[in-house]
Amino acid sequence: MNVQHLNRVIITGGAGFIGSHVLDYLVGNALADEIIVIDNLSSGSIDNVAEHINKKYFIFEKADLKLINEQWFAHFKDVDMVIHMAANPEVRVSVTNPYIHFNENLVVTFNVLEACRRGDAKALVFASSSTVYGDARIIPTPENYQPLEPISVYGAVKLAAEYLCITYSKLYGIKSLIVRYANIIGPRSSHGVIVDFINKLRQNPSVLEILGDGTQKKSYLHVYDAVSATVFLALRVIPTITDYDIYNVGNDDWITVKEIADIVVEEMGLSKVNYVFRPATADGRGWPGDVKLMLLDISKLKSRGWKPLMNSYTAVRKTVRQLLKKEI
Ligand code: NAD
Repeated sequence: MNVQHLNRVIITGGAGFIGSHVLDYLVGNALADEIIVIDNLSSGSIDNVAEHINKKYFIFEKADLKLINEQWFAHFKDVDMVIHMAANPEVRVSVTNPYIHFNENLVVTFNVLEACRRGDAKALVFASSSTVYGDARIIPTPENYQPLEPISVYGAVKLAAEYLCITYSKLYGIKSLIVRYANIIGPRSSHGVIVDFINKLRQNPSVLEILGDGTQKKSYLHVYDAVSATVFLALRVIPTITDYDIYNVGNDDWITVKEIADIVVEEMGLSKVNYVFRPATADGRGWPGDVKLMLLDISKLKSRGWKPLMNSYTAVRKTVRQLLKKEI
């Protein structure tokens, strides 16, 4: 594998929010000859990849990765890199319906790893999450933090999936780069706090229901930064590792849910919005399994020579403006 250029890349979940931006970035920077997106369009949209359809470099395969099928397996033959984004990213769903997360996040990752093994794929990038840390006692939280005690089923299956990637890297030589994302925001996002606030305020501009007590404080990274970090690591770290490596991908700062609400209200040009806080637990979480404080230590990522262009505040404001179509 050449560091600067890839022959064939697969993006699972490439019609989703982050995956489609990875696709745009690889194409925009001419980093791959052929890119195959495999997606069942459960939460993703064909609109997110529309500009690539019918291009020589692009293949779209509509398939459900929960079901092993020779047609999608065949794409993995001798592929340089698999960027595995397919998942159900809704942490809240995992509380009420753990089966969905077990299947969409763990079974799917197992099937993708099996496809890598059988197709002799060289490397895998796995989209993991800050939720593997649970309620971390060290903040900012470094990659080597222990013990890893996720408090949501989503976090638990992400951690289990990380271990599958690690084992496949050691046993079958599929190099694994595990990226633990903070909250990723930006255009095309279909879920999360900003989308939720905008939708609610469009329905009722005078009242905003806020899940939790509003003091939940987390780190947010714009998807442009998330994608640039992911590809940066994929191109630089994978050639240097023999089995696997893990990187936090986030920001140096954090922002409260109440501050996000204030930015959304201001950018929507509203005033006199009545905030109604709905804490789901005695300590003010938005739902059971919601991590209240999340800030990742990104010094390992920065030591490789990458840093975010936008902090959490700038990323939130830009995302709100992009979702409101005030900015592109
Ligand atoms: P998304 O829902 O926009 O994208 C996921 C994509 O996977 C969608 O296009 C969906 O249709 C596809 N998919 C789901 N199940 C599938 C299946 N069984 N077969 C084929 N395709 C399937 O989510 P996202 O926010 O872009 O997240 C991408 C990855 O990053 C996920 O693994 C998510 O867990 C992880 N992650 C996201 C965030 C975030 O803040 N967005 C934070 C941490 C980790």
